[in-house]
Amino acid sequence: MTRWHCGIEGDDATFDRVEDLVVHQATAHDDVECGVCGAVVPDGYLGIRHLLADHSREAYTEAHGVDPDQADRRASVRETVETAADLGEIVERLEG
Ligand SMILES: [Zn+2]
Ligand SMILES: [Zn+2]
Repeated sequence: MTRWHCGIEGDDATFDRVEDLVVHQATAHDDVECGVCGAVVPDGYLGIRHLLADHSREAYTEAHGVDPDQADRRASVRETVETAADLGEIVERLEG
């Protein structure tokens, strides 16, 4: 079974369930400021989701000074998580 790896600032916490990983990233780590619009968003997957959903890839790579390859890796992280995760459960747990 896949173990999900946090990876934020070298955190080597792992989780059996991707929902646990996303909730961990959003609650155990400090929020981060979006480099494009200044919104404060959770770190980890939800932050990536904000960047990719609300901003163009170009705006993102410029604001964060990352190269397009890195942006593509983040996009693939998002896809991997979204394929595996029950987003409804995550939202419920974070709001509830
Ligand atoms: Zn972590
Ligand atoms: Zn933003």
